[in-house]
Amino acid sequence: MSLIVQKFGGTSVADTEKIRAAARKAIRAQKAGHRVVMVVSAMGKNTDTLLDLASQISDEPPAREMDMLLSTGEQVSVALVAMAIHSMGSKAVSLTGGQIGLKTDNSFSKARIQSIDTGRIERLLDAGNIVVAAGFQGIDDDLNITTLGRGGSDTTAVALAAVLGADACEINTDVDGVYTTDPRLLAEARRVDVISYDEMLELASLGAGVMHSRSIEFAKKFEVPIHVRSSFSDQDGTMIVAQPESETAPVSGAALTRDEARVTVLGVPDVPGMSQKIFSAIAAQKVAVDMVVQNVGTSGKADVSFTVAGGELKKTLAALEGILDSLGADGVTHDDQVSKVSVVGLGMAHQKAVAASMFRALAEANVNIHMITTSEIKISCLVPRDQANEALRAVHEAFSLDQRPSDAKTWNEIKASNAKEADVADVVARLQNDALEALTLTDISIVPAQARVTLDGVPDQVGVAADMFEQIGEAGIFVDMIVQGYDGEDGSTSVSFTVEQADLDAAQKVAREICGKHSMRDVRGASGITKLSVSGIGLRSHTQVGTVLFEQLASAGINVEMIATSELQVNVVIQSDQAGDAATRLKQAFAEALH
Ligand code: ADP
Ligand code: ASP
Ligand code: MG
Repeated sequence: MSLIVQKFGGTSVADTEKIRAAARKAIRAQKAGHRVVMVVSAMGKNTDTLLDLASQISDEPPAREMDMLLSTGEQVSVALVAMAIHSMGSKAVSLTGGQIGLKTDNSFSKARIQSIDTGRIERLLDAGNIVVAAGFQGIDDDLNITTLGRGGSDTTAVALAAVLGADACEINTDVDGVYTTDPRLLAEARRVDVISYDEMLELASLGAGVMHSRSIEFAKKFEVPIHVRSSFSDQDGTMIVAQPESETAPVSGAALTRDEARVTVLGVPDVPGMSQKIFSAIAAQKVAVDMVVQNVGTSGKADVSFTVAGGELKKTLAALEGILDSLGADGVTHDDQVSKVSVVGLGMAHQKAVAASMFRALAEANVNIHMITTSEIKISCLVPRDQANEALRAVHEAFSLDQRPSDAKTWNEIKASNAKEADVADVVARLQNDALEALTLTDISIVPAQARVTLDGVPDQVGVAADMFEQIGEAGIFVDMIVQGYDGEDGSTSVSFTVEQADLDAAQKVAREICGKHSMRDVRGASGITKLSVSGIGLRSHTQVGTVLFEQLASAGINVEMIATSELQVNVVIQSDQAGDAATRLKQAFAEALH
């Protein structure tokens, strides 16, 4: 008999009528012959209300008590849903995270799932019940209640689907699927039939709030197909699976992280080990950093900039405060009025000019770009917050995201051409010795024979990045990583990019032309560098990856010249003669996580 996990989010159980509707949907599935496990979130905005209550009592409530409080939201809704099912003549049992044996680590408010005991759920299902499990919560080894982070019920649902070997994992929500961008922000956003795990993982981590990003890590790792659909209809929605919708579209979605903050550590001595100190202090607070850029100065000092979620700025600044002296840095600045606009697409890995198109779209919307970072399937630009919506609209339009790509496939078409179905039991068995959400790495690899070009004194003006990268593209040069640092006191910044070693001369020639045209200060080129990549799943949220990587490189005296991070890869650019040593060290350090 097939098993379905049906998750209902907050808006889908916001009042008693909606609770009844959710109950009816589950009963219909059961009557259609499925075993049904529901995962339910807190009613409506109840989690926010609880957070607000706590803030009225204390500025910094103990994390343990916070989780104790927040978990009550889900406890209310599971009980009401089970009652609704009873009132309709079917059998249901509600269970808390602890009662489904959902064990987590003890990092309150961001707990990671270690294991789930399926025995009780199976017995209740065997006895003909609909099991109504509380989302978002678990217990640690000391039986403390923990929560998984905002939006974490998605992760509970996908985790349950994985360990139960469910045939389907439905995410019932207030939109009828995944859109090319948040439909609440952009009316022209298009619902997609299919999106790949990798794309959804990046989009979710870059602000697409429709799915908790950790739920997608889980889905990818355990090969769980996810069906995102409306709670309020029986229409099909979007399938999140291994394959993308289109093989050719360079970009499949855009996302906005409105509440982002930029932090710059000024005048960091440019010697090995400094990045490690900075990022391990921040990782120790479990804060995920993004858009890491170092502006390597000529004076032996560098400015290191990065972004964090706005809500984590205070914690981040406090962590830096503690290490400034030992770093020998000059100081820290920050900007909390910025937003991050990103585009994501598996297709961009093989296409030139995607970055240039994004920069051009922003220039035409008169949006100044503060910082740029790229990785294999995403490009992010930091923009002024008051222009965030225009920026999102501009890039959405530039990549025609409102139009279905001509080669787009439906899920049925993809399924038909792909005979092999994932064997969930096999995957679960393969990974069974690990904690369920343990770090999983797939590869540590190097790309040798790279070169870097750096332009200094790049004026802080609309359109400069667009001009630069269009001109480089026109010269037929394939650019891999691009970083643009934050514009400092003098209103200028530096831009670095990597190219194949063989293209260095040509790239420098174009760079010198650009330098003259825009009155920049200088062009520098470096050859003999290598890109070292650690690949895996959920690398940004597993903050220890960066820490271990920097620790290893620092202890071997290896200087990191450029960094690019994503959910799928952490890339660093280092000197080629040190690359072999670096790769060996990392393989040892990460041996346990490499699968
Ligand atoms: P739930 O309470 O069901 O978990 P959420 O509010 O967490 O629902 O997620 C659904 C919301 O996500 C939608 O209402 C939509 O505004 C937002 N959203 C953000 N990005 C996207 C996207 N790319 N596609 C669809 N919805 C999105
Ligand atoms: N109720 C929790 C929240 O609002 C978990 C969830 O809805 O997924 O974050
Ligand atoms: Mg949600």
